[in-house]
Amino acid sequence: MNKPASRKPSPERTLSTLSDSRRAKRQSNGARRLLRVHELLLDHYGTPTWRNPLPPIDELVSTILSQNTNDTNRDRAFDALRAKFPTWEAVRDAPAAQVVEAIRPAGLANQKGPRIQAVLRAITAERGALELEFLKTLPVEEARAWLTKFNGVGPKTAAIVLLFSLKRSAFPVDTHVHRVTGRLGLRPEKMSADECHAYFESLLPPETYSAAHLNIIRHGREVCHARNPECERCVLKQVCAYYRNGRTSSK
Ligand code: SF4
Repeated sequence: MNKPASRKPSPERTLSTLSDSRRAKRQSNGARRLLRVHELLLDHYGTPTWRNPLPPIDELVSTILSQNTNDTNRDRAFDALRAKFPTWEAVRDAPAAQVVEAIRPAGLANQKGPRIQAVLRAITAERGALELEFLKTLPVEEARAWLTKFNGVGPKTAAIVLLFSLKRSAFPVDTHVHRVTGRLGLRPEKMSADECHAYFESLLPPETYSAAHLNIIRHGREVCHARNPECERCVLKQVCAYYRNGRTSSK
């Protein structure tokens, strides 16, 4: 009887299997470390609650207003807009100058005003009304792609609307989350904030997204400042690459 031909794997196949297994190992280490950070922050700060949850269109407008400003100015602009116009349809159809005037407290009003009106018009044109509830029924990736096709709606804005208004599995990455996770060594050093959304979603269980996002932001604001992080009083210092490497001053 003939001996069966040997099934020795090709060198390419061996390399790809090896790199797949290394990637999987790295991924599981990353998931474990990220979960550990999440648990330490939960112990320290408790379970956070999102500010008054807003309907999806409100959240979308509020998040566009929040770009390059702080929460106080965002809320002042949002409240002024709602006080001036009774509905989002009225904001959509208003003269641009009136919208710009109302949202001045948020800064960059000349850019944000037309952008908000353009998004409201585009949603109306596609859906026949100002509604985003249909995104609850789409696969998350399709919902994200639908939102981010509009000018001014990036991955962070889309993830905030999806997570907090529509209760979908999306992990928002803002400047604090990007900075803190970079220092902790929880992501590849050169990974952009936009790329981090999918990366962290692949590492964390969806039920942790909201609390992990909010607690990391809080930590970034209160302890791991952009300049001069307060490493000595930080509850994460034992798991932090930045601290371990002795870089306790500003980076
Ligand atoms: S140890 Fe320092 S750098 Fe690391 S997370 Fe804490 S404050 Fe940030």
